[in-house]
Amino acid sequence: MIFEKLYGRPKFLIESNFFAWKCAKNAIPVHDILSQRMNIGENLCHRCHRDSETLIHAIVTCPRVKRIWFLYSLNVRTDSFRDKNIGDWLRFWLGLNLNRGNPNLSENFPLVACVIWAIWKSKNSFIYNNQTEHAQLILNSAVHMIPLGHIPPPQFPYPASHTQPTTSTSLSIWSLPRSRMFKINTDGAWDPNSLKGGMGFAFRDSNGSFHYAAALPTNVSSAEETKIQAIWTALKKAVD
Ligand SMILES: [Zn+2]
Repeated sequence: MIFEKLYGRPKFLIESNFFAWKCAKNAIPVHDILSQRMNIGENLCHRCHRDSETLIHAIVTCPRVKRIWFLYSLNVRTDSFRDKNIGDWLRFWLGLNLNRGNPNLSENFPLVACVIWAIWKSKNSFIYNNQTEHAQLILNSAVHMIPLGHIPPPQFPYPASHTQPTTSTSLSIWSLPRSRMFKINTDGAWDPNSLKGGMGFAFRDSNGSFHYAAALPTNVSSAEETKIQAIWTALKKAVD
């Protein structure tokens, strides 16, 4: 069933889907599989050195890669797949999991297959070239595999420029805080290409009068973390 689903796909995805199909067939040389066929010593994960390098670990649940799946627009936390196998992961995305099945998820499978393939290629870069790629860059390389227009818009996290969407159909109006209260507005931005980010915040009172503001660089690794750091820093300043 997985085989049929994987191959009923556009031509440009043949390479990534073929890799996903090999995953489904346990035909990828991870340590756990190799150790069943030959004596390779320990079978720990190359990246984290914590757990056995099974396919589900190498592609999905390894602490060094699971963040990639959280960055994706569906924000999947992969910890619940720690005791599952890669087939369960593929069934989940193909909408074939009877317990958590969601047929709409299969619309995202082209990108999911590319993410799987990008993670595997980054693993090989790490092993053979000693190159460590940032989670966002691995995701970006997966997005680049797919021509524009081949991903349904609701499931596509960011446009090809890799910047957050800036258009909005709703208008947000700033309102005054209550009497004797301060309102703090915060924001943060992060550029996955330069890996640099910044945050800012402003304090205003119930008259709308400006009291304090700051703009600072950040040392985190995603837009979400930058926004959270902005809130955290502003709250610390409020306590001071
Ligand atoms: Zn690992």
